Amino acid sequence: MSLTVLPHDPRIYRITAIWNWDSIVELFFIDAPTRALIDTGASDTPRRYVEPALRTLGLKLDDIDVILNTHGHQDHMGGNHWLLAHSQAQVYMHQADAFLVSDLDAHMAYIWHADTHALGQDVSGRRAQFMQTVTGPSAVHRRLADDDVVDLGDDVQLRVVHVPGHSPGSVAYHWEDKGIAFIGDAVQGFGSKPGMFPLYYTASGYEESMVRLAGMQIETLALAHRYVWSRTDRDALRSGREAEETVRDSIDVVRMVGQAMAEAMKSHAGADFLTVARAAAQALAADMPFSVDPRTGLPTGLPATLYAHYSELTGGDAV
Ligand SMILES: [Zn+2]
Repeated sequence: MSLTVLPHDPRIYRITAIWNWDSIVELFFIDAPTRALIDTGASDTPRRYVEPALRTLGLKLDDIDVILNTHGHQDHMGGNHWLLAHSQAQVYMHQADAFLVSDLDAHMAYIWHADTHALGQDVSGRRAQFMQTVTGPSAVHRRLADDDVVDLGDDVQLRVVHVPGHSPGSVAYHWEDKGIAFIGDAVQGFGSKPGMFPLYYTASGYEESMVRLAGMQIETLALAHRYVWSRTDRDALRSGREAEETVRDSIDVVRMVGQAMAEAMKSHAGADFLTVARAAAQALAADMPFSVDPRTGLPTGLPATLYAHYSELTGGDAV
């Protein structure tokens, strides 16, 4: 269990959790009059990390009033189900991601669309692992939209910034007075750890969301994972120039991937997704440090990203 207070305000705490054996996810807790937990991690995160962290503050799980999901992916909402059974908390998230938490079959169909339809892979074996990290669906008590304000009482107001791309309903929670935005997975550099690849389901949305964030000049970005970028230090909190560079690096990456896919499509006119994506992955390997799945020749576990570009380049009518 790791709990640290942020320098921005003594009411903001960061809870660092491990999920899926060796992956890190960062949650944040705001001890406002309405107490908020930003994301819940995977199924066992509330029990293993959040409850002990709150105990050191003299609080218990039932003191959490709202769960603010940055988006509906398993490592951010996987603890919702369990936490809802152990507290009276209400779940807030963007309306466009509500289906990911309320309907787990729809969630799996969405995240494995490229694996299933473009690569013809059998994903049935992954379902059991997914259900271990999520355990159950989650209610959504308030469906957020862009520019909504989540008022946690006193001077704590978080503005909702819709930043789709990584998921349809990804949001940043921007505490404007403190200059900090909790952005989930909206800005990913080269990926969530060395050897990974960024993950997004709409390429143009991901890029446009980051361009928007860059224009907002947010002092501190609180990332949900310790994304790889051009510097070696990989903390989840990036301030000032580090925040700017992280966003700029991430925009460079999505543009580089898009260009590689466009060039591969040109030199393989009429070819299917796998042929085009494999050529693009080969071209990108010189500039990006991702590991390759030997069965497909694509970034390990993440065909969805290249498929997002393919869909847009083919006019959105790919399988
Ligand atoms: Zn995610």
